[in-house]
Amino acid sequence: MDPHRSYELLERLGNLLRAEERRAGQAHGLQPVHLHALSYLARCNRYSDSPAGVTAYLGVTKGTASQTLRRLQDKQLVRTRPDREDGRRQHLTLTAKGKRVLAAAVPPPAIRSALAGLTSAKGESVLEELLRRLQRENDSRSFGVCHSCRHHLRRGARSECGLTGEALSPADAELICREHE
Ligand code: SF4
Repeated sequence: MDPHRSYELLERLGNLLRAEERRAGQAHGLQPVHLHALSYLARCNRYSDSPAGVTAYLGVTKGTASQTLRRLQDKQLVRTRPDREDGRRQHLTLTAKGKRVLAAAVPPPAIRSALAGLTSAKGESVLEELLRRLQRENDSRSFGVCHSCRHHLRRGARSECGLTGEALSPADAELICREHE
């Protein structure tokens, strides 16, 4: 791949993506960062649905993350629920309204229809490889899907997290995790 040409394409795509995110968010009084946080909370597991998880995923300061979450809570798109076993722990979760907004705005409609028109699956693997390389270079967390983690242990038909020792359901295995390696 020609790095200059590829960079130009990424730069143009990045600008268009942000413009479409702004447009999609505006309809709900939200900025792109709010859509990113909603999207993350819809896909992350129980070890990651905390303010610290959102901060790490977005790569922003604690203050920005907490303002973002406050806005989502004020608009009743996100709520907290206590952990079943440890009442001191709270999980951030989307409300029904939050799920509706997410379904309407992410991916932004124009991006969704452009992607639906693509036929090659190669683009996805190229983008994934680029993302992993950049994450390695920046020493940042991968936030990958649980079933691809090195700590994901299969015990016959059941799965377990090697870090926490807790059982993982098939649904857990499809979620992203801040501890993923
Ligand atoms: S196996 Fe990995 S990705 Fe899955 S819950 Fe454990 S640390 Fe997270």
